[in-house]
Amino acid sequence: MPSLSKRTENFTDSVIRRMTRISNQYGAVNLSQGFPDFEPPRELLDRLAEVSKEDFHQYSITWGAQNFREALAEKQSRLMGRKIDPNGEIVVTCGSTEAMMAAMMTVTNPGDKVIVFSPFYENYGADTILSGAEPIYVPLYPPEFNFNADELENAFKQHPKALILCNPSNPCGKVFTYDELKVIADLAEKYDTFVITDEVYEHIVYEPYKHTYFASLPKMWERTISCSSLSKTYSITGWRLGYIIAPKNIIEVAKKVHDFLTVGAAAPLQEAAVTGLKFGDEYYKDLQAKYTKKKDLFLKGLDDIGISHTIPQGAYYVLLDISEFGYESDLEFCEVLARDVGVGAVPGSSFFRENVNHLIRLHFAKKDETLYEALNRLEHIRNKICKIL
Ligand code: GLN
Repeated sequence: MPSLSKRTENFTDSVIRRMTRISNQYGAVNLSQGFPDFEPPRELLDRLAEVSKEDFHQYSITWGAQNFREALAEKQSRLMGRKIDPNGEIVVTCGSTEAMMAAMMTVTNPGDKVIVFSPFYENYGADTILSGAEPIYVPLYPPEFNFNADELENAFKQHPKALILCNPSNPCGKVFTYDELKVIADLAEKYDTFVITDEVYEHIVYEPYKHTYFASLPKMWERTISCSSLSKTYSITGWRLGYIIAPKNIIEVAKKVHDFLTVGAAAPLQEAAVTGLKFGDEYYKDLQAKYTKKKDLFLKGLDDIGISHTIPQGAYYVLLDISEFGYESDLEFCEVLARDVGVGAVPGSSFFRENVNHLIRLHFAKKDETLYEALNRLEHIRNKICKIL
């Protein structure tokens, strides 16, 4: 038999998604892969039921249904402070996962370098490999996960084609300040580099932090490919609705990549989601308040148990320090945690370029009762799985 493709030799399956399967296998409370267990807004579900009886069962326009793009353009124009053209500056994709992959294929050639901050969402590693690009990792330093501007400039000196910016950041919960973004923007301009953003947590930001859209910085619109999705904002991760927003010349190419990758996002789901895109500001305020409560509940629970952890500024993840448990492998720790404590987590090593084995990631996008159940189980963690007596 001939051998399979070389590019797939260099990565494993997604550890995040693997941990969901392991959690399910042990009946653990799954706080690994980040998705809610509460219902999406009722209005979306009602509209979805209606849509099944309407005429939305064939392909939509490949770069997104007209009314979806119009509703999205209106919402994002409001937030990003610039009039976005629904006809020339948007491609609707199958989740932000496809948006990021399409963005990478749109701007990079095999062999091009791409700056990635570490820790990073694991898909970026695979995205670079699949597009033939080579990552240059720049560390973010705890506890605030700040970068060192000189280290960043050194990375830019290697003439990368693009920088990937996850803001608010998964897994570390960092929300980049305007000043930090300005440093990145100045370097992107100086070294003539694209910036591909992943802003799926744009509406999940905790006071006093604020989300700044990178594309809204002076002179950054021209070189920014903004990727995001409806998954987290409307609790519909399974609908796989994402998008790219960028200048027309970039979108023209992204449209072609997207067209041949997937043809288009699901037409009935786009139609139902328009309802959400038309929600007023109140919805986003409520979402923020809901996640702030969940964050506070969960972090207080962890503090009561006495496990040290990061304090997220945005997104819905927290990194826990597991040094005290005496495990050399965080992967092994997560398997034992799912099996013997009954809580699913993601090993931190799947997010770091550096050799980090003492962190695990949990998420709190769950009903309060699910979070309490997880905390109850975690209360007994030291008796159950500590290797150091
Ligand atoms: N973004 C979520 C996480 O980090 C889910 C990722 C996925 O599986 N697409 O867990």
